[in-house]
Amino acid sequence: MTATLDWLGCATFRLSLGKLVVFLDAYIDRVPAAEPIGLAVDEIDRADWIVVGHSHFDHLYGAERIAKATGATIIGSHETVRVMEAQGVPLAQLMPVAGGERVRLSPDVTVSVFPSQHSCVWSHKKMSQADEVCVGDLGVTHQEQQQRMAELAKWFGELGPDVLAHLAASAQGPRGDGGALVFLFETPEGRLLYQDTSGHWSGIFRDLRPDVAILAAAGRGNIDGEPIQGSLARFVAQQADLLRPRRIVLSHHDDWLPGFSRAIDVAPIREELARSCPRSELVEMGYLESYPLFKGLA
Ligand SMILES: [Zn+2]
Repeated sequence: MTATLDWLGCATFRLSLGKLVVFLDAYIDRVPAAEPIGLAVDEIDRADWIVVGHSHFDHLYGAERIAKATGATIIGSHETVRVMEAQGVPLAQLMPVAGGERVRLSPDVTVSVFPSQHSCVWSHKKMSQADEVCVGDLGVTHQEQQQRMAELAKWFGELGPDVLAHLAASAQGPRGDGGALVFLFETPEGRLLYQDTSGHWSGIFRDLRPDVAILAAAGRGNIDGEPIQGSLARFVAQQADLLRPRRIVLSHHDDWLPGFSRAIDVAPIREELARSCPRSELVEMGYLESYPLFKGLA
């Protein structure tokens, strides 16, 4: 079995483990202004599983079409499953999880699900760069966070018509983030951690020992429910320090929704990792590169 990973933009990847094909999130069709990935959802004809980290459109939109075209089963939060059921995905292809489950994907591959945290979207209006130090915003209640999110949503209305049309198409009805999840794949070649938004429970992360970690690098990091006091680069390095992976792959750091997102400069993350986790190799992946995930780690 050769494990390969294709980055499909934002936090979406295709994991190929021999004949087994697993999508990690499913957001592939983006606004026309976003850099093309070289693949559209409607071209996908092979998938066995789709694991979804949380229910926001930039992770879930597309899963309904991949599932219908391929017969793949979607593993995600109850919110993810609710939205997919409303989109017409048969119940037999929906597996709701909340963290604590170990799911067999094939005779020699399993995935374990863990509860996680969403990045602190509420804490900022513009996506900050990786070396920008953010402090404060501690102890903000859930209601205050909701209020700040509502103000952020108003600003979404100022984005161009292309973006608004895309947001309308991908909205698929009201939903929350559904509770963020992280996934730990165990394969004959090694262990892969998948995270699709910048947050974690440190008590969970410090006991996971992946060989390769896909870590989200966008927005303000969330540690145990509070925003990181420091930069995004520091957040990624702190996670690497907890997980101690041999290899790190970044996600969510491209300009996936121009006008709202911004391309994250990886240099400060690279420097911070070299300083604090010199044993973790940072892989800087382009779209559709079929990266041999565990090569050289055995
Ligand atoms: Zn999200």
